[in-house]
Amino acid sequence: MDREIVLLGRIIDSVSDAAIEDGAVLVREGRIQYAGPRKDAPDTQNAEVYTCEDATIMAGFIDAHIHLTGAESVHRSGDTPYDLLLTTVRDLSDLVDAGVTGVRDMSAFGRPLRDAIEKGIIKGPRIMVGGRVLSISSGHCDFDVHKPVSQCNEEDLTGYMMDGPEECYRGVRRQFREGAEFIKICATGGVSSAIDDYNDQEFSEEELKVIIGEAKRHNTYVTAHCTGTAGTKAALKAGIGCVEHGVMLDEECCQIMKERNVPLVTTLSVALGLSDMQGLPPHMMRKAQGVKEAAMRSFRMAHEYGITVALGTDYSNSPNTPFSEIGREFYSLTRCGYSPMEAIRAGTVNGAKLMRREKDIGTVEAGKLADLVLVEGNPLNDIQVLAHADNVQLVMIGGKIQKEAGGVRHEL
Ligand SMILES: [Zn+2]
Repeated sequence: MDREIVLLGRIIDSVSDAAIEDGAVLVREGRIQYAGPRKDAPDTQNAEVYTCEDATIMAGFIDAHIHLTGAESVHRSGDTPYDLLLTTVRDLSDLVDAGVTGVRDMSAFGRPLRDAIEKGIIKGPRIMVGGRVLSISSGHCDFDVHKPVSQCNEEDLTGYMMDGPEECYRGVRRQFREGAEFIKICATGGVSSAIDDYNDQEFSEEELKVIIGEAKRHNTYVTAHCTGTAGTKAALKAGIGCVEHGVMLDEECCQIMKERNVPLVTTLSVALGLSDMQGLPPHMMRKAQGVKEAAMRSFRMAHEYGITVALGTDYSNSPNTPFSEIGREFYSLTRCGYSPMEAIRAGTVNGAKLMRREKDIGTVEAGKLADLVLVEGNPLNDIQVLAHADNVQLVMIGGKIQKEAGGVRHEL
């Protein structure tokens, strides 16, 4: 039997409205046995005890929007899929070091990466596999118009293009064939795309019906990249189960989302920070200016409507989007009127629901899998504590310690 582990510190459990000061979390055989005030904790013998300065114990962070074989690196010339896959293995380790214990991936290698992590071959977070992002030709995933669509579809590790109902059936089924557990589409154009406008509606109503129907028959949901309002609304009316980015929601979008309990995934660090990024192509710079204010307006409205939000970053471990700073997303959400506690729930329990794993992960409660982080500082007083991997002292996935930094005090 593995030795018992005890973490000591303030607990933010993603359930209660307040932190438990002077708490203890007892982990046995991969699961949380007790989480609560230290004075009420059961007696343990031979437990390994971990804490740090001003320690806060939280559920592991969940990034609900990530492209592991990332959008930015895919288009770097000379890299083969094998090169990118190896880079991704390193990136997964960086994610864990930043406190991320679960992600929804939208790229080509989610399935083999998920399986290698589950077998213990490589270090990484739990992965919900989304397969590649589905787009129309001339849409958000069409980056190289000088190549035939079929060639792009073979080479691109992030996007996959399909036109017309027949190709929509085939494209969705191909993602399932390659291991997808949910389906991601582009309902609108985007800021980073080369030729479309973010106000474009992409898939037609007929195509949306095919895609959403096919996902339902596989007992899962479709999530949609949503920038412009019209395409977002069309996708919501067609029955998508989740909105990514949601940069330009209007009252009607929010009403539909509230009524049908459709969650919103944030990606606000990119939306708010895009215009400050270095080295972006001119077509992106032009679009980036308008996005920042629109996103803030949109999320303030979503907050008023009480729409569920889950943290997502769209980070790909590029110089502009380093995984070591993936926790900036907590802070970005607070810039739009959300409290630190709301941001923490968005990055833990709400992400677990989107991964359909809320029975097992997302909160610090007895019975859950021990996916936990020990952070130095109190994020309820200063949410920026979560913004850098350096403050994440200890990371545990399923009771196994994946990171133990210099500030950890380890007592027997
Ligand atoms: Zn994305």
